[in-house]
Amino acid sequence: MQSEQIKNYLKANLHAHTYRCQHAYGTEREYVETAIEMGIKEFGFSDHIFCPFKNGEVSTMRMKLSEVEGYVDTLNKLKREYKNDIDILIGFEAEYIREFYEEQMNICREYDIDYLILGQHFIGTEFNGPYSGAQTTNEEILKGYVELAIEGAKTDSFTYMAHPDLIYYTGSKEIYYKHMRHLCEEMKKLNIPLEFNMLGKATNRNYPNEFFWQIAGEVGNKAIVGIDAHDTTIIQDVATYKECLALAKKFNIEILPKAEEKKAP
Ligand SMILES: [Zn+2]
Ligand SMILES: [Zn+2]
Repeated sequence: MQSEQIKNYLKANLHAHTYRCQHAYGTEREYVETAIEMGIKEFGFSDHIFCPFKNGEVSTMRMKLSEVEGYVDTLNKLKREYKNDIDILIGFEAEYIREFYEEQMNICREYDIDYLILGQHFIGTEFNGPYSGAQTTNEEILKGYVELAIEGAKTDSFTYMAHPDLIYYTGSKEIYYKHMRHLCEEMKKLNIPLEFNMLGKATNRNYPNEFFWQIAGEVGNKAIVGIDAHDTTIIQDVATYKECLALAKKFNIEILPKAEEKKAP
C-alpha cells in the first residue's frame, strides 16, 4: 500500500462487525491491526445489537445477550493494548425496535457502551417485520421504514444513520422522493449525519442509491463514510472509499471527517 493512498484514506470509522453476529469473519485484533496499517486513528466496533426476544426466538443475524460481556471485554483489552496507535470504541449497530428499545438501552448503560449507530434493517424485527433491503413496491413498507428511523433518531441515542438508503423501494419515483425527502429533512433537523456505506458500494448492493443522495444533496444533509466491515479486506479498500467521496461530490454533500459519538441517554 502506497503511503500517499493511506494519507488520503479515512481516519475514523464507526462501522465494523465481529463474528458474533454470525455473518462477519476474522478476529477483532485483525480488524484493529488492519486499521492501524491503513492509518486509521479511530476505529469503532458496532456489531449487530443483541435483542432480548421473549418467546424463545433465536436470531441468526445478531449477537446473543450472553455474548455482550465477551464483546466488551475483548475490545477493552485491545483498547488498552493499542492505545498509543489507535482509539478503539465500543458500540452497536441497532435497529430502532419500539418493544425492545428500553431494555437494550439499559444494557448499553450497564456496559458503558460508547455509541450506537442506527441501522434500520427491519420494519420491526427479523421475526415480525420485512427486511428493509428486500425489493418492494409497497409504499407502506417504505413509509414504515422512514417512520421508525425518524422515531429512533428522535431518541437522541444514535450517532449517525447507517446506510439510510438500505430500503429497496422500486415503485414510483415520486413516492420514493416524498418519503425519503421527509427522512432527510428530519435527520437534518436532528443533526444526524447519513452514511455512505462502503460495503454496499463494494458489493454492488442497492445502496448507495444515487437518487437518495441526490435528495440528501438538495436537503443539505451532512454525511460520513462508514466501512461496515464484516471482514478485514474492506478496511483496505481505498478505491471504494474514493468512489464514495466522488458520489458525495457529485451531489454536493459535505463529508464530515468523523461523526461525534453520542452516548446512549
Ligand atoms: Zn451485518
Ligand atoms: Zn453494519
